[in-house]
Amino acid sequence: MHDARRRATGVRSGEFYGRYANPTVASFEDAMAALEGAESSLAFASGMGAISTIVLALCGQGSHIVAQRQLYSATLAFLQGPCARFGIEVTFVDGTEPGAFAAAVQPGRTMLAIAETPSNPLLQLVDLDELAALRGPITLVDSTFATPLGQQPLTHGVHLSLHSATKGIAGHNDATLGVVSGERDLLDEIWGYSVLHGATPSPFDALNALRGIRTLGVRTNHQSASALHLAEELQRHPAVAAVHYPGLSTHPQHDLAKRQMRQFGTVLAIDLAGGIAAVDHLLGHLTLVRVATSLGGPETLVCHPRTTTHASLTDGEAAQQGVSGGLLRVSVGLEDPSDLLADLLVALPV
Ligand SMILES: *Cc1c(COP(=O)(O)O)cnc(C)c1O
Repeated sequence: MHDARRRATGVRSGEFYGRYANPTVASFEDAMAALEGAESSLAFASGMGAISTIVLALCGQGSHIVAQRQLYSATLAFLQGPCARFGIEVTFVDGTEPGAFAAAVQPGRTMLAIAETPSNPLLQLVDLDELAALRGPITLVDSTFATPLGQQPLTHGVHLSLHSATKGIAGHNDATLGVVSGERDLLDEIWGYSVLHGATPSPFDALNALRGIRTLGVRTNHQSASALHLAEELQRHPAVAAVHYPGLSTHPQHDLAKRQMRQFGTVLAIDLAGGIAAVDHLLGHLTLVRVATSLGGPETLVCHPRTTTHASLTDGEAAQQGVSGGLLRVSVGLEDPSDLLADLLVALPV
């Protein structure tokens, strides 16, 4: 009886019921904590499961959140839709603008500051030191595009570092998983709500992610080097109006990238001078690179944000966010970079 009570009421007890904890999931969480330099990690059924659980665990009616405008589209939709419906007010700021987060914090009311760096799809950066210096709110960084080998937000003093492990961490397009890392007390508090919210990770997906972590270093080294090579080469092509990649010396925040990133990531964005007609031409002529939406996997994928992830924006909103008709996001895979470049060069309009 006493043993049963202990199992049922213990925090993150792995011996009671699968929604509370699971030993395979705990192994994945331990590996993530080691990669993030964290006291603890907590896994979820998806990246969105992590984000929505954290917001609803830490905020209530009347709470205030500061978030950057440049966010993964589902995160933005969650903050704009359900949060407003539940009486959680969100102020959106330009995450690249120094001091923007601090200016929007309302003392005593702002519970959470949410950043994403590098951001989807334009690879814009948020200064992690500046975010960590905020007083009052719990600071949360979506670090998915960097992977834990590209940056460690917690070492800057940020409270929570989050990943969609669906992407580079599992790394093979065969898991849907999210994870957040930070101090144990804070994660235990989030866990208390997460068992009610139920965005519980599958042990099978956690196993696939543990398998992915074994090769994370070699994969991200190769993919980041290929991404930089493609960015540098494509930047010179006359059909390309702009290339967005934090590793390029022409990136407006390249100095910040060098300060806070150890690898510049596996994703870049290219803006074609010929707009949507040029995108059509390119997508119709690729043979090695595939047209699909995810990122961080073994195969190189391109996606056209304006007609997929950012399709619901008005033209005005899209222009304000820099999501033009010619913009393509490229997730660089494990292929030989010279094969990738050749495929893109043949497909680019002349
Ligand atoms: C994919 C992604 C998410 C959402 O993750 P899911 O696992 O698809 O729920 C959140 N943030 C970023 C930056 C992503 O790329």
